[in-house]
Amino acid sequence: MSGAALVWFKRDLRLRDHAPLAEAQRFERALALFVIEPEWLDSPECDPQHVGFTLASLQPLQDELAALGLPLIVRVGPAPQVLQSLRAEFGFTHLLSHEETGTGWSYTRDIAVGRWCREHGVAWTEWPQTGVVRRLRSRSGWAGRWAQRMDAAPQRLDGGFRAPDGWAPTPLPTLADLGLPPSRPLPPAGEAAAQAVLDDFLDGRGRGYRRALSSPLTAEQGCSRLSAHLAFGTLSMRSVHQATEHVIATTPDRTLAYGLRGFSGRLRWHCHFMQKLEDEPDIEFRNFSRAHDTLRQEPLDRERFEAWCEGRTGYPMVDACMRQLRATGWLNFRMRAMLVSFAAYHLWLHWREPGLFLARQFLDFEPGIHWSQMQMQSGTTGINTLRIYSPRKQAEDHDPEGVYVRRWVPELGTPAYPAPIVDERGALAVAKERLYGLRGEREVRQEADAIQQRHGSRRSGLPPSGMKRAAKPRAAAAADDRQQELF
Ligand SMILES: Cc1cc2nc3c(=O)[nH]c(=O)nc-3n(C[C@H](O)[C@H](O)[C@H](O)COP(=O)(O)OP(=O)(O)OC[C@H]3O[C@@H](n4cnc5c(N)ncnc54)[C@H](O)[C@@H]3O)c2cc1C
Repeated sequence: MSGAALVWFKRDLRLRDHAPLAEAQRFERALALFVIEPEWLDSPECDPQHVGFTLASLQPLQDELAALGLPLIVRVGPAPQVLQSLRAEFGFTHLLSHEETGTGWSYTRDIAVGRWCREHGVAWTEWPQTGVVRRLRSRSGWAGRWAQRMDAAPQRLDGGFRAPDGWAPTPLPTLADLGLPPSRPLPPAGEAAAQAVLDDFLDGRGRGYRRALSSPLTAEQGCSRLSAHLAFGTLSMRSVHQATEHVIATTPDRTLAYGLRGFSGRLRWHCHFMQKLEDEPDIEFRNFSRAHDTLRQEPLDRERFEAWCEGRTGYPMVDACMRQLRATGWLNFRMRAMLVSFAAYHLWLHWREPGLFLARQFLDFEPGIHWSQMQMQSGTTGINTLRIYSPRKQAEDHDPEGVYVRRWVPELGTPAYPAPIVDERGALAVAKERLYGLRGEREVRQEADAIQQRHGSRRSGLPPSGMKRAAKPRAAAAADDRQQELF
C-alpha cells in the first residue's frame, strides 16, 4: 500500500493481536511511536509506578519491534506537538492506533489529535481493543457484541516491516530523566511476563480461583493477577478470553474448568464497567445519580481522609488492607470495596478524593472500572443495592486467625495503634438514614430508571458464562458475583 504509517502505541504495549501493527505491514514505510505525555504525568491519577511499569513494558517491545524492522520512537511532549514535529521528519500519511477509554486529559488529547489529523490531511484509524463499543446507542445486545469481538480471530503479523532509512529506536528515559521519584517495587512487565502469568494461571493456579478470591490471605496467589497487564495492554483481552475458553473446553480437570469459568465472567465485567465511562465520560467527576449530589456536600474532612490514606483509622482490617495496597500496588476486589465503603459510609467522605488516591495506589488503574466501582461502592449510582462492609465481619470471614492483620499492623494491641477514628454504629446509622431517605424520594426513583436503562447490565447477558452451568457456586465467589451483577 502506498503511503507511510505511524503506529501510535498507548495502553496496548504488545506485539500479538495488535490491529494497528498488522495494518502497518501493508504500508510502504512504517514507524512506531510512544508519547510520554506531560498531561499524563501531571494528572492526579498518575503515580511513578504507572510510568515505571510502562517503561519496563516498552523495553522488550522496542527490542522485538526492532528485530522485525520497526523502530519504536519515544518522545516526551503533548501528542499533537510530537506528531507535528515527527511529521516534519517522517512524512507519515496514516496514523494507526487503538481506541482508548481514558480520563478527561486523554479525551481532550484525542479531540486535539483528531483536529490535527484533519488539518494536516493525515488519515487516523482507530481499532477497538476490548469489548467497549464507541458511540453505543443502547445497552441491549451489548453482551452479544462482546462475545462476537472476543471470539473473532486475533490479529497476526506476517513477516517484518519496512522502516524509512536512518531511523533507530530511541533509548528509553528513566524515571529520574522524567523528573519523577523512584517507583514502589514493580512486578515483571512486558508481553512475555504477562503471558507467563496467564499460562501459570491457566495451567493450574486457576483451580482455586473461586475459593481464593475473597480473602486477602489467599487472593494474592489465587487471583489471576492479570489486571495490570490488561490495563497496559501487554496482553489483549481477546487473547486472554480465547486461551481461557480453550482450557475450559479441553481440560479433563473439572476443578480447573470450574475455577476458570468464574474468572472468564470477570473478563466481561472489565469491559462492562469501562463501557459506562465510554458512554458518560464525566462520571469520573460527578455522580451517576444527580439526585445524590445533595449527599456528602461538606468539604472533605482532611483528618479522616489522611488517617484512611495512611492506614491508621483504628480499624485493623481497613488499615491492613490500605498498608498492603500502598506497599504492593494491588489488593483483591472485596478488600478494595471494603476500603471504599469505609471511606464513604463510616467516614462520610465524597468518593472523588479517595478515588484519586486509590488510582495512584492501584498499579492496574483502569479509569472505566475504577470510577464506576468508586461510585458503586459509595452508593451514588442510584441503582445498585447499598452494600456497607463491616470491617469486623470481613476480618471474621476472611482472616479469622488474624494472620493477615498481624502481618500488616504489627503494632496492634500496643499503645502505638490508634483508637477507632469513628464510632461505627453511630456513623452507619446516620449514613443509612441519609441514603435510604434519599432513595425513597419519587424523583430519585424516576432518575434510577433512566440510569438503569442507560448503564445497567441486561441480566440475561452479563452473568459469567460458567455461572449458569455451575451447579452451586461456592459462597464467597457467589457473594462477589451478586454484588457485581446489579450494576
Ligand atoms: C473501588 C474499586 C476500584 C477498582 N479499580 C480497578 C482498576 O482501576 N483496574 C482494574 O483492573 N480493576 C479494578 N477493580 C476491580 C478488581 O478489584 C480488580 O480488577 C482485581 O482485583 C484485579 O486483580 P486480578 O487481575 O487478579 O483479578 P481477577 O479476579 O483474576 O479478574 C480477572 C480480570 O477481570 C477483571 N475484573 C475482575 N474483577 C472485576 C470487577 N469487579 N470489575 C471489573 N473488572 C473486573 C479485571 O480485568 C481482572 O484483571 C476495582 C474494584 C474496586 C472495588
